[in-house]
Amino acid sequence: MSAQKICLVTGGAGFLGSHLCAKLLQLGHIVIALDNFYTGREKNIAVLRQNKNFSLITHDIINPIQLNHVDWIFNLACPASPPHYQKDPIYTTKISVLGALNMLELARTHNARILQASTSEVYGDPDVHPQPESYRGAVNPIGVRACYDEGKRCAESLFFDYHRMYKTDIKVIRIFNTYGPNMDPDDGRVVSNFIIQALKQELITMYGDGTQTRSFCYVDDLIAGIVTMMNTNHTVTGPLNLGNDTEFNLLQLADMVIKLTGSSSTCAFKQLPSDDPRQRKPDLTLTKATLGWAPQVQLEDGLKKTIVYFHEALALQNLTDKSYEKNISIE
Ligand code: NAD
Ligand code: UDP
Repeated sequence: MSAQKICLVTGGAGFLGSHLCAKLLQLGHIVIALDNFYTGREKNIAVLRQNKNFSLITHDIINPIQLNHVDWIFNLACPASPPHYQKDPIYTTKISVLGALNMLELARTHNARILQASTSEVYGDPDVHPQPESYRGAVNPIGVRACYDEGKRCAESLFFDYHRMYKTDIKVIRIFNTYGPNMDPDDGRVVSNFIIQALKQELITMYGDGTQTRSFCYVDDLIAGIVTMMNTNHTVTGPLNLGNDTEFNLLQLADMVIKLTGSSSTCAFKQLPSDDPRQRKPDLTLTKATLGWAPQVQLEDGLKKTIVYFHEALALQNLTDKSYEKNISIE
């Protein structure tokens, strides 16, 4: 293991942040989660709070913050689900841009290493497929997704300007669709929606005709990639794609979820949201060569674990009626 670090994880109570905090604690580091619970949840970090090396700061990253000391900063704070980031798009832009600026200033003050959770959304609705890091993207700068896409693009540009101007030790990763336990059941992303709808024997909300593609990465693979990236030497700045490069269309995803849950749900076709990318798959050539990392978990295996999580989450939240409990049969 690398020497013990004091790690700040912004967005630590969110889906990815909570897994990252758990992994860093497991590796022996000291972890400070920073979150304002905009989309994060206390229950994601409840078990971590029992660890003496874990602490929480409730703070909004659009405002500057001072800390006594920090070695590593992981900047994950930002709503990631389209319904969440589109709810208050101006705030989303502030989180991405001012949040990045504030965290970069903190890194500069402490001479800390800083990782930015960027996104495949910087490629927009891509006309190059799969997407290598060299592809500059096709983002609609005035569309409903722009608050997120352009906010993340501006954050990347700030990271590289700090690196050029102040030699800040930066790492930029572009995360592709990731799923797994600790996703918020009300998050609105496709994997959580489909699984919950299937478990509840409800109609599966298929936006468009379901032929659009995504490449789904299981959370454990993603976290391993983030930790590997953070442990590279200072010459490795990225951007590097992190995700799974096995591509599925949404009809295939729905079939798999229905099969694995033993559900009788069928698809209800709805209007495709505006600017919804038609296809997405990471080109992992550079990432594999740089990190020696590759995703390991097949979609079917990751979905099984995620279905168990949502089954328990639904039961716990008592969101369901008795028919749910009677009908359920997880494969
Ligand atoms: P999430 O919504 O579950 O977590 C985001 C966390 O950030 C939440 O805990 C939220 O409360 C916190 N947060 C939001 N605004 C904040 C603010 N102003 N101040 C402090 N905390 C704030 O989302 P996630 O899926 O865990 O995504 C984490 C990061 O990874 C995001 O930056 C996202 O853009 C990026 N990412 C995720 C995916 C994915 O598939 N999950 C893909 C690409 C990029
Ligand atoms: N999607 C869908 N039904 C849903 C939620 C999403 O068909 O209930 C579609 C969405 O239109 C997109 C894909 O699934 O084509 C992935 O959506 P998600 O919000 O998970 O992530 P992103 O669009 O950011 O990749």
